[in-house]
Amino acid sequence: MVKIGVLALQGAVREHMKSLEACDVEAIAVKRKEELQDLDGLILPGGESTAMRRLIDKYDFMDALKEFAHAGKPMFGTCAGLILLAKDLVGYSEPHIGVMDIKVERNSFGRQVDSFEANLAIKDVTASFPAVFIRAPHIVEAGENVEILAKHNDRIVAAREGQFLGCSFHPELTEDHRLTAYFTQMVKEAKAKHFV
Ligand code: GLN
Repeated sequence: MVKIGVLALQGAVREHMKSLEACDVEAIAVKRKEELQDLDGLILPGGESTAMRRLIDKYDFMDALKEFAHAGKPMFGTCAGLILLAKDLVGYSEPHIGVMDIKVERNSFGRQVDSFEANLAIKDVTASFPAVFIRAPHIVEAGENVEILAKHNDRIVAAREGQFLGCSFHPELTEDHRLTAYFTQMVKEAKAKHFV
């Protein structure tokens, strides 16, 4: 069985754990960087990216997260997690983990619509996914190796670049586990490749 961690410093951790369990994988809430070592994949949850970054620094996680990425292990960033993965952030000179070839803008759906739900077609996942957006970011630009998986109102809201998956919304806040299942499949494939 593959083991998938959820970075448990801040944000929607429990909901991701439940969604992973619904996909029949072992879910670990990661509180110490040493716990990353025996994981096959990692979810960076939604929450607040600046708060999460402070905790990443406080608990000395940054190098371990970059090593995890450089080892080729799959990572899935949702909402604030997407912001952490991006190589480029609108209005910031430095990224956070900075491994996925996308430019992301924070809080980009306007203040009036702090949160909303929309049905999305997600490539390779489903024609209709109930996506919950909460002060959501969006992907402004995507590099040539990035596959765009979903758009909402012409804005990119889900994408994949090899081992990296990111979305603007919160897939863990509904009972629809198909995007989590897509990520667990990425993790299984990456693990199988490693053992060939
Ligand atoms: N607006 C938040 C941020 O910039 C992200 C919101 C979320 O994760 N729901 O970090």
